[in-house]
Amino acid sequence: MNCQECDSQNIIKNGSIHNGKPKFMCKDCGRQFVENPTKKIISQETWDLVDKLLLEKIPIAGISRVTGISEPWLQKYINNKYENIEQKVNVVKKKAL
Ligand SMILES: [Zn+2]
Repeated sequence: MNCQECDSQNIIKNGSIHNGKPKFMCKDCGRQFVENPTKKIISQETWDLVDKLLLEKIPIAGISRVTGISEPWLQKYINNKYENIEQKVNVVKKKAL
């Protein structure tokens, strides 16, 4: 199980909620949650908006406020994005002169 907020696996059990379901806490970001919750769904439109805001050089904190996506998620998304771009750049071969 991963943290719903930052996807960390550094999870500890932290008591239980009113119906007896175990409650967990992420040691990395401090977020508390229960197992098998309704999944947080971020729509493609929202990610498109994130891309636009990134192009405008809006800081992550600002994008987080506008889109409602948490900062750790945004950071992960950005890291992934740049990793992919780097990979693409690396495979482009230079034209031999
Ligand atoms: Zn977390």
